[in-house]
Amino acid sequence: MPHLRRDSFTLLRELMRWRVAMVLSVLIFVLMIVLGTINTRLGLADTAQLAWITLATAGACIAALLVLPRHLGGTVFFVSIGLLLVGVMAFGLYHGRPMQHWAYIFPPVLVFLVSSRRALAGMVAYGIYASAMLAPLVPAIDVVRFSSGYGLLVCFMFTYALLQERAAVMLRYHSDHDALSNCLNRRTFNEAVEQLASDRSDVGGAIFLLIDIDGFKAINDRHGHLAGDRIITLVAAELGRTLAPDTPLFRYGGEEFSVLLAERTLEHGRDVAERLRAAVAATDFQGVAVTISIGVAGWRRGEGSITAALDRADRALYQAKRDGRNRVVADTP
Ligand code: GH3
Ligand code: MG
Ligand code: MG
Repeated sequence: MPHLRRDSFTLLRELMRWRVAMVLSVLIFVLMIVLGTINTRLGLADTAQLAWITLATAGACIAALLVLPRHLGGTVFFVSIGLLLVGVMAFGLYHGRPMQHWAYIFPPVLVFLVSSRRALAGMVAYGIYASAMLAPLVPAIDVVRFSSGYGLLVCFMFTYALLQERAAVMLRYHSDHDALSNCLNRRTFNEAVEQLASDRSDVGGAIFLLIDIDGFKAINDRHGHLAGDRIITLVAAELGRTLAPDTPLFRYGGEEFSVLLAERTLEHGRDVAERLRAAVAATDFQGVAVTISIGVAGWRRGEGSITAALDRADRALYQAKRDGRNRVVADTP
């Protein structure tokens, strides 16, 4: 579902990452002014120089965060700090100054950039590199001390990143899906429509199917609300099985569903709708016969709003109900 990729969840995550990058850039900028000044006063020209290089990097990151799109700005910041930390270790070896205290910043930087598993590989590789840069400068026991502390930090960071990742997947599933039918929910449908309508979308048009279970009130009255709930779940499962795996199915309302077919013709939409109708009519829902009616309408970019297309699909659906239910009606312009 390419048009759903940059949804509210992704945008929120990008915004949070951007904010963290901005706060850290400013913090590093101020810290480097302090460290640069202290090192200069102490006559440590080489470490003062490192502070000024970091200061310039933080300044460039602040500019990048202000100018670039949010997701790019965040990436530029974390990549810059990561590369700087690689450079710092080599700098330490070159000037004969142990720099292992800065190595502890690398794991948290990396988990902002890549998945937990890749971060683990990167953190371990950096740990080996930092130990190698440190070894010629300090007694062996200090290398062991550094590796142990760093190794533990990697364990903690990896566990944290993995939990975060799992929690995000779960949270995202529950925010996108409806608990009863397991379809995508109405909020996700509204977002998909917004994305579709936006000027940034390159989708030229779409077909909408509005699906409504026939006589559902009577089913509830006859079999009870719990049985009604179960039938909503089973009908959704049947619709999902009949649709192509990458076609999104939404719970539109109580006993109403919708399907969004991007870049498809009205003919194709009608065929899909007919297949869905026939599949439900041919299925036995735990002893209850269920049928659905479907309204189909199309939208083309530049030819009216999506709301108007949904309205036409809704009118087609009501025509199907008036015509006797268990049928598909397509809106013909
Ligand atoms: P038709 O669509 O064929 O015109 O008749 P209908 O009886 O299905 O029409 P209507 O839209 O008036 O009724 C829908 C009923 O669906 C009303 C409501 O109580 C029931 N309903 C809506 N959501 C749920 C739900 O989540 N669970 C159950 N059990 N019933 C629901
Ligand atoms: Mg209804
Ligand atoms: Mg109904």
